[in-house]
Amino acid sequence: MKKINESFTCTHCGKQISQAAKTCRNHCPYCFVSLHVDGKIPWDRATTCGWTMYPTAYEIRNWQIKILFQCQKCGKIHRNKRADDDEVEKLDMYSKQYKDALY
Ligand SMILES: [Zn+2]
Ligand SMILES: [Zn+2]
Repeated sequence: MKKINESFTCTHCGKQISQAAKTCRNHCPYCFVSLHVDGKIPWDRATTCGWTMYPTAYEIRNWQIKILFQCQKCGKIHRNKRADDDEVEKLDMYSKQYKDALY
């Protein structure tokens, strides 16, 4: 399975996102918004949904933060590890904000 690690411009905050150093970037490290591009398997890029996914919750397991993203269109939920350079101190604020505003 080919992993896609590419730089992109965030559709939400408009910041230019560079490639993640160690992991595949799938969400914006600044506002945590992601796009629904994966199907059943993370990184498979198998869905045509393409809608915006917002982080609505997160959980901490084995000292790792996992972020739960929900697709605004189809409701699909993805879990993803945080990236090393995510601004995690803002995650709590953002996830509450998105949840209140959108769902
Ligand atoms: Zn962003
Ligand atoms: Zn979707």
